Amino acid sequence: MSEGKTVIESVLREDRKFAPPAKFASAAHVRSFADYEKLYAEAARDPEAFWGGIAGSHLDWFTRWTQVLDWQPPFAKWFVGGKLNVSHNCLDRHLATPTRDKVALLWEGEPGDSRKLTYAELHHEVCKAANVLKGLGVKAGDRVGIYMPLVPELAVAMLACTRIGATHSIVFGGFSAEAVRDRMNDAKAKVVITADGGYRRGGVVPLKASVDQALAEGVPSVEAVLVLKRTGDDVPMVAQRDHWWHDEMAKASADCPAVPLDAEHPLFILYTSGTTGKPKGVVHTTGGYLTHVTYSTKLVFDLKDDDVYWCTADIGWVTGHSYVVYGPLANGATSLMFEGAPNHPKPDRIWEIVAKYGVTILYTAPTLIRSVVKWGEEWPAKHDLSTLRLLGTVGEPINPEAWMWYHDKIGGGRCPIVDTWWQTETGGIMISPLPGATPTKPGSGTLPLPGIHPDVVDRTGKSVGLNQGGLLVVRKPWPGMLRTIYGDPERYVKQYWSEIEGNYFTGDGARRDSDGYYWVMGRIDDVVNVAGHRLGTMEIESALVSHRAVAEAAVVDRPDDVKGQALAAFVTLEGQYQASDKLKAELREHVAKEIGAFAKPDDIRFTDSLPKTRSGKIMRRLLRDIAAGKESVGDTTTLEDLSVLARLRESDE
Ligand code: ATP
Ligand code: MG
Repeated sequence: MSEGKTVIESVLREDRKFAPPAKFASAAHVRSFADYEKLYAEAARDPEAFWGGIAGSHLDWFTRWTQVLDWQPPFAKWFVGGKLNVSHNCLDRHLATPTRDKVALLWEGEPGDSRKLTYAELHHEVCKAANVLKGLGVKAGDRVGIYMPLVPELAVAMLACTRIGATHSIVFGGFSAEAVRDRMNDAKAKVVITADGGYRRGGVVPLKASVDQALAEGVPSVEAVLVLKRTGDDVPMVAQRDHWWHDEMAKASADCPAVPLDAEHPLFILYTSGTTGKPKGVVHTTGGYLTHVTYSTKLVFDLKDDDVYWCTADIGWVTGHSYVVYGPLANGATSLMFEGAPNHPKPDRIWEIVAKYGVTILYTAPTLIRSVVKWGEEWPAKHDLSTLRLLGTVGEPINPEAWMWYHDKIGGGRCPIVDTWWQTETGGIMISPLPGATPTKPGSGTLPLPGIHPDVVDRTGKSVGLNQGGLLVVRKPWPGMLRTIYGDPERYVKQYWSEIEGNYFTGDGARRDSDGYYWVMGRIDDVVNVAGHRLGTMEIESALVSHRAVAEAAVVDRPDDVKGQALAAFVTLEGQYQASDKLKAELREHVAKEIGAFAKPDDIRFTDSLPKTRSGKIMRRLLRDIAAGKESVGDTTTLEDLSVLARLRESDE
């Protein structure tokens, strides 16, 4: 591929820069940019010594490793010979400290019920649940499927698995029976843990019924189903196979020592969200993963003992695994979980919770921020958000417009924002500001964490240099990296390690600016070629969203008889604006002004919603089919709302 074709142009403004507030910086774990640079250089000089130091100082090991890294590209083993246990590190080791009586999980249910579990209480529950699993025949190395609402027992179930060395595979509670069936079959789960149902927007999601349907369609590996009573609705129980959580827990002993497990013991399998294709069963292991998430949670969220930390992600996504459960608990933090939707019963539910619990750190997704903007700023304005001291985002590039809004309206201008770039595959955060050290720029994830070595390269693997777009890769192995795709090591090699020789290929496009800051422009598959320019669609979307009428936008290319390729934009409007031809013309001109006439969308379609994955990411591959007038839409199991596609087709110009 020619040099020119690899280069992606980038047009985002980068004129705004925010220094860490002095008060924040003075108390932070890393207090200045010079300290960050020093730490980065130290880690780069000897990555294995650096990661060995982190693993030793951040975690408890039953047996020390003999080798930090065994790297047989592209297969890595970290902390070879080391033995540890994740639930021991998240629970037991805190019991001898004052953290014992600190709240580990703070939980609010959708109907408004609320619970608190201290570290000692959580430990007690986890030990019992681990014995329940043992009683059902679960042994180290077996897979346990989890399909639950966002309740404390979900975290208990995960930690119980880790305690005895069972590998969990969580399926987000919003997925259908088919998704459960496919994932349980792929993982060959022996036991499934579920609930009678979960609450969502005032209704009940019938989880147990979906499990029954999935198993009826054939998941031969499953021997037992453990059912939590959440809603109290009647659910049929299959004799021998199905067991009530509360019955089994009542009988279980609370004595269950944590099993020392090999550092490379598989901790969990998690299927990616499927934005680009069929979900892949990403495998993470014990020692490296826990090292990476423990360290990154502490540094990126600058955790302090009195923080009330809230990551709004569902535990069904990797963000929930790493930054609701494992990272915060390994650090002895108080982690808040909320079962429901952020706008139920009203669009200020999320702000009501922040005020009620005195949340100090809020970590959420750009899609939610854009929704909040669309709902109207009067909703957050009703609540006291003054306890917030740090904000974060993850999941997609955040357009500078939404960043500024988050900064001003939610953070009151005083909270640093950590825009964290990472993936299911990376296990933990890779690129992010350190909030007390790194000056931020709206829309940029800024710089890699110490110990992480990304780069922006062309197809031959050569760095493209500053201010040129290219492919985002990681040059060196890191402890939290995925080890394989479950049952398909060939796909692992092909997908991640064959594109750019010797490098981990992220699938994302990025650019580094003149400060070396990373600007992730979205997936390479979403790069469009217009009139000889290669642009990340995010760039044009960002220009559209900067218009006052636009809440959200997705841009894709479609074949065009004359131009070869044309640009189609799907746009949702803010509440008070109406779709019109006049507005279309105005939006085209707006893009011309922000980027250049070449980037003007050829078609603009107004729509009430965009097709998104259940984690809130726009599925542009589906929009491409619609823009091209094609019927086939590929895998849609991760789509949140299928009816969106039909509505979009009808809205055809
Ligand atoms: P699939 O790999 O199945 O298509 P997915 O990539 O959406 O699904 P995730 O692992 O949840 O699944 O998402 C990781 C991707 O999300 C990244 O590769 C990147 O495209 C995007 N992303 C995450 N955080 C950021 C961020 N802070 N800035 C820009 N992009 C981000
Ligand atoms: Mg991906």
